Amino acid sequence: MYHHVKKLMFTVEVGEADPQFGKMLLEQFGGANGELAAAMQYSVQGINCEDPARKDLLMDIGTEELSHLEVIGTLARMHLKPMKTNREAAEVDPLITIAGGGGVNLFDSIGNAWTATYLKITGDLAVDLHSNIAAEARAKIVYERLIGFTQDRGSKEALQFLMSREVTHMRAFTAALESMNKPQFAVGIIAPTPTLVDEFFNASTGESQYGETDFNGPWNEGHGMHKVESEIKGGKGLDTQPYMPKPGTEVTSPADSTPVGQYTDGISEKQAKLHEQQKAKMKEDAHVVV
Ligand code: MN
Ligand code: MN
Repeated sequence: MYHHVKKLMFTVEVGEADPQFGKMLLEQFGGANGELAAAMQYSVQGINCEDPARKDLLMDIGTEELSHLEVIGTLARMHLKPMKTNREAAEVDPLITIAGGGGVNLFDSIGNAWTATYLKITGDLAVDLHSNIAAEARAKIVYERLIGFTQDRGSKEALQFLMSREVTHMRAFTAALESMNKPQFAVGIIAPTPTLVDEFFNASTGESQYGETDFNGPWNEGHGMHKVESEIKGGKGLDTQPYMPKPGTEVTSPADSTPVGQYTDGISEKQAKLHEQQKAKMKEDAHVVV
């Protein structure tokens, strides 16, 4: 159920309206990493979520994002307002002026219409949480860049508020993912091929005109991975030995979404035992508030 409370989550005040900046702000209103996208992504993920504790988290944050939409919309509206009557301001964006009457609408900073294709909703809780952490990181950096292009105190304060909330969300989604007690890269129910998964394929070789060459780092020589050279360079290439693990070989969590696919045997006995242990720990971590 949604219920509108008139009070804004953060009081928005603008000293001097800046229509050009108002247009930039629309990126966070109707843009790919904006507040509507965040609100819809988390709320719809919440509707799909079968784990009540993390559904609560998704609905809490999804709803907060709607409140952010109201704040950023109010701020953008204040900056766009001169477009209604001032010819010079109107020329900043004829679409906003002539079609939209100088108000906000669900477009980004260059007039692209908002679209549901911005949303990352997979129906797998762990995968969705990974997406949400990345979405919050993008929202954070967009707010930071907006802050960098205004001198207006009230605008800066509102944007600082919104930016900080995205960092809070990034932390909450990270904690929720960790609390599922899955190994860091465990996704779904089928384990990856053991040898192949540790192989980093050196697919960019040679040296550029600017001296760019191969580098080694923890991404190809650490974290359990090692570098494999291409056959073209006389290397061994990737280990392509066929490997067919059964569903249930990947470590799963009791909070995971129901697997998708024609699996009749459910989770293996080993997983069932693990879930019993995980459940006790997760119950402690996410207790019901009465
Ligand atoms: Mn937000
Ligand atoms: Mn957020």
